[in-house]
Formats: sequence, structure tokens, C-alpha cells
Amino acid sequence: MNKHIAFNKPFLTGKETHYIYDAVNSGKISGDGIYTKKCNSFFEEKYKFKKALLTTSCTDALEMAAILLNISPGDEVISPSYTFVSTVNAFVLRGAKIIFADSNSINPNIDPDAIEALITPKTKAIIAVHYAGIACDMDKIMAIAKKYNIYVVEDAAQAIDSYYNNIPLGSIGNIGAFSFHETKNIIAGEGGLISINDHQFINRAEIIREKGTNRSSFFRGEVDKYGWVDIGSSFLPSEIIAAFLFAQLENIEMIQNKRKQLWNAYHKNLESLENKSILKRPFIPSYATNNAHMYYIVLNSLEERTALIKFLKEKNINTVFHYLSLHKSPFYEGQHNGGDLIHSDRYTDCLLRLPMFYDLTVAEVELISAEILNFFNK
Ligand SMILES: *Cc1c(COP(=O)(O)O)cnc(C)c1O
Repeated sequence: MNKHIAFNKPFLTGKETHYIYDAVNSGKISGDGIYTKKCNSFFEEKYKFKKALLTTSCTDALEMAAILLNISPGDEVISPSYTFVSTVNAFVLRGAKIIFADSNSINPNIDPDAIEALITPKTKAIIAVHYAGIACDMDKIMAIAKKYNIYVVEDAAQAIDSYYNNIPLGSIGNIGAFSFHETKNIIAGEGGLISINDHQFINRAEIIREKGTNRSSFFRGEVDKYGWVDIGSSFLPSEIIAAFLFAQLENIEMIQNKRKQLWNAYHKNLESLENKSILKRPFIPSYATNNAHMYYIVLNSLEERTALIKFLKEKNINTVFHYLSLHKSPFYEGQHNGGDLIHSDRYTDCLLRLPMFYDLTVAEVELISAEILNFFNK
């Protein structure tokens, strides 16, 4: 029996505790110190965000986005149904109604051709979730947003270091949100980032992130006292989190290269099953890059997926399915406008994620792939 293969294991570069020690010894461990600034600059320089601000999670970055867009009761927000709850919870918290769109038939991203029919005079924003780090069709989405004068928020939680026609994800919509949760490529335990690409939101983002105060301008010497100027909350992480994150960012090339090597090994090994129409491998459109966030397969039925999960579990290999369509969730089912979302439901039933993390070996990917081939050759 092979040794147990986990679905995910957080990767440490080795420098994390060193930088945390340094942050602790510097005497300043609350937010927006040296390590937070190093991280923010890293993102602004490498990915050309007009403004990058660390947050305590991607959920928080999305909540900031909803406040920045002045989402209020009665507004409508268009989102894929096949996504994480935080994508839409942030907008529901401000009183918005979520209008769910179906996924593409070729991958779980929002079907851009399904969006226009959902737009009403109440539509305020479209949320583009780059599933598995693979870009949505941003030209189409941005064109619709422009035509109807609505905002685009990129939920780039899984999309660090991934591109749309050579443009970094998170830099295209008005606002982007990233996650450094331990299940993502670059981690900080819990952590996130808001990227702002629209000048009108930059000052207010700093205020909202600092409990509705102009503390950030005060520290830059722009105002001589700081006070309560807007609504807000505490969205900034401590220096301990930023220090951890900075160690990861310094090693981003190494992390991405290893993940891509594993991803490519799966992709090659499972090609024959796709050729026989037994399953579908991830589809990466020509405008998108692969950041190797996830390796998933799409089976032909729920029964087959359940049987494969069980088969692999018996071989000590942990695989997991993913989202349950939000339009059918206990919380939102009654509020959904009723349209069937067939692809979203198909991914709910048939998509399976295979082990993918830095410390996984190519030999283990070979073994997992071989077991999947075995299952279908039975
Ligand atoms: C992980 C994830 C989030 C939430 O990120 P947190 O940092 O845990 O808040 C939101 N949206 C998507 C698509 C995600 O994958």
C-alpha cells in the first residue's frame, strides 16, 4: 500500500519564521509596517495594480469592494453560481440581490454570453471568478460592463500570477481580490489582497480598510489629524501575517514552476482518458495562462465521480469535489430567479480535484494518474 497522499499540504519556504521573528523584534506588529509595505510594493510592481493593499482575507477584500462600489439594497450583482460563498456574500451583506449566471460548457468560468440577458437597470456589477486561476473572457465581460456602465470585480482568489492576453489577472476589472488562505498557491495561513485599478477608489479604499478613518493620510503627513470620515472596518492584517507572506512572495517563481511541473504531468497522463471521452481535463482558452492552482477533472456522472473518489480513497489518495451551486443553496434557493444553470450543476456533480501542492512529487502524480487509469480499465 502506498503512503497516504493528502489533497493539500501548506508549503513553507523556510524564511517565514525568520521574517516573523524580525517583525516581532522590530517592535511594531500591528498592520501597515515594513512587511506589509514590502508585500504591497511587490504586487504593484510585478502585476501593475494601481494600488495593492493587504487584507486579512479575500473575503475581506470582496467586502471592501462591495463598500467601495456603494452596493445598497435593491442593487443587483451578476455572479457565477459555481463559486465560493464569499464571492457573493460580500454583496449580500450590503443588501444586493445576486443574479446567478451559468458557467461555460468548456470550463467553470462565467459564460460571458449569458450575462447580457441578466442585466436590468438595477445591475451594479459583474463578478468574474477566475476558476482554477484560468482567466475569464475579460474582453467580452469588460465590453458588456462598458456598454451598460456597470463595474467589474475580479474574484482572483485562485488567480495569482495568471494572465489574460499577457495582462495580469486582478488588474483588469475596477477592483480585484486575492486570497492567501493555506489552500492557495501563495499562502499566509489566512490573508488576502485588494487590487484597485480605478483611481476613484484608491483614497476611499485606504479609509474603509482603516475603520473609516483617514489614518493612512495622517501617517503620510497629508492631514494634521485623523478622524472618522466614512464607514469602514478593520481589514488590515498584522505584520506577522505580512512577514509570513513576504517569504512566500520572494519564492513565487520556484513555487509556480514546481506546481506547473506537477500540473503538466497530470495533464499528459490523463490525455488518453479525455481522448476516449471518459473525462474532461481543464480547458485553457488561448487568451489564458495556467497558474497551476488546481488540477481538476470532469467526469461523466455523479455516480462515476463518487465511485472514483471511493476507489482512490482505498488506495490512500485523497481527492475532493468542489462547489455546490449557490443558486441551489439552502440560503439562496428561494431567492434565485428560477433559471436552470445546467453547466453549474454539472460541475457541482462531476468535477473532481486531484492532489496538488508544492511538496507533491512527480512520482506521486504518476501513481495517482495510474490509479485513475486503472479505475477506468476495470
Ligand atoms: C478561496 C476563495 C475565496 C475566499 O478566500 P479567503 O481568503 O479564504 O477569504 C473567495 N473566492 C474564491 C473563488 C476562492 O477560491
